Amino acid sequence: MSVRVQPLPGPGLVVRAGELLAVCADRGDETADLVAVLHRAAADGGDGDGLITRLAGRVGAEGPACAVLALGGRPAILVRGAADVRADGGRGRVELRGPALAHQPLDGTLWTVRLSLPGSGSADPRTALHAGVVSGAGLLAQLGRPVPPPRRPDRAAPFEAVIVLPGYAPEAAPAADQTPTRALIEGVYCRDEHFNDPGQRYCQICGISMAQLTQVTRLGPRPPLGLLLLDDGSTLRLDTDYVVGREPDIDSDVAAHRARPLRVSGPASGVSRRHVRVRLTGWRVELVDLGSANGTFVHRPGAAEPERLVPGVPVVVSPGARVDVGRRWFRYESHRNSQP
Ligand SMILES: [Zn+2]
Repeated sequence: MSVRVQPLPGPGLVVRAGELLAVCADRGDETADLVAVLHRAAADGGDGDGLITRLAGRVGAEGPACAVLALGGRPAILVRGAADVRADGGRGRVELRGPALAHQPLDGTLWTVRLSLPGSGSADPRTALHAGVVSGAGLLAQLGRPVPPPRRPDRAAPFEAVIVLPGYAPEAAPAADQTPTRALIEGVYCRDEHFNDPGQRYCQICGISMAQLTQVTRLGPRPPLGLLLLDDGSTLRLDTDYVVGREPDIDSDVAAHRARPLRVSGPASGVSRRHVRVRLTGWRVELVDLGSANGTFVHRPGAAEPERLVPGVPVVVSPGARVDVGRRWFRYESHRNSQP
């Protein structure tokens, strides 16, 4: 398992030795002794829980504040003094804090573990600690997140989805060399530097009126324009074009990474191999039917009847629009573009 460790700035010492990660408050010689104990424990190695249990006996209740994580086998954590541990994983969050000496094993898949002392800052994503002792008031260990495998079409999967919960998106996104380049588009910045559609009167992020601002447009990276919500509950971030179909990989723009494939299948789904393209043009979301056999139907919010797209003719859609492709459907959702 590869573990990425980033020190958190602040007063104290961060230790990475073998499978052991720790942060200790700086109390001079006492801390030096503690770091030596940690190194010996790491050298003994073994199961994380066993290591932490032995360590608890060695360090005792008194001494500099510290938080320790031992990986390997069954991971475990320990805290003493003004320190705390926050572990997030498949079974939710576990928190452990002093001042009393406490330790416990961590079960289930672990995603991130944060060890911190008072006054710790946030991790700088450019930093990494592979081994040794550095200054810092904490550390963030990222582990267990599977690295996405290279894209291989899975014919059995009904959809390929990007999960957009905070903290998930970067891991779920395609590998860097496959990520379509963020398009540069014309926009205006609100007073707080949020990039906006020049056609909007209010900032779509903070709601501030942009009436007083000089409407000078600047080029900027296009933010995600919202989500596609699929009939199975999956969500996809709208930060690039999508080709929707049973075999979207056959589309040349998908092959060239100018669009992501959105595979929609199912028995007798009525979905064509390349059915419809969701296209981002400036700040607008458009649909282009790709000559599908059964057509693409758009249900606009408030409209009585669905509209059948003319193949090859783009139409702009607003949030809330539902799009039927055969017996499957998806919806465009966004806080943007609600008043086009
Ligand atoms: Zn704003």
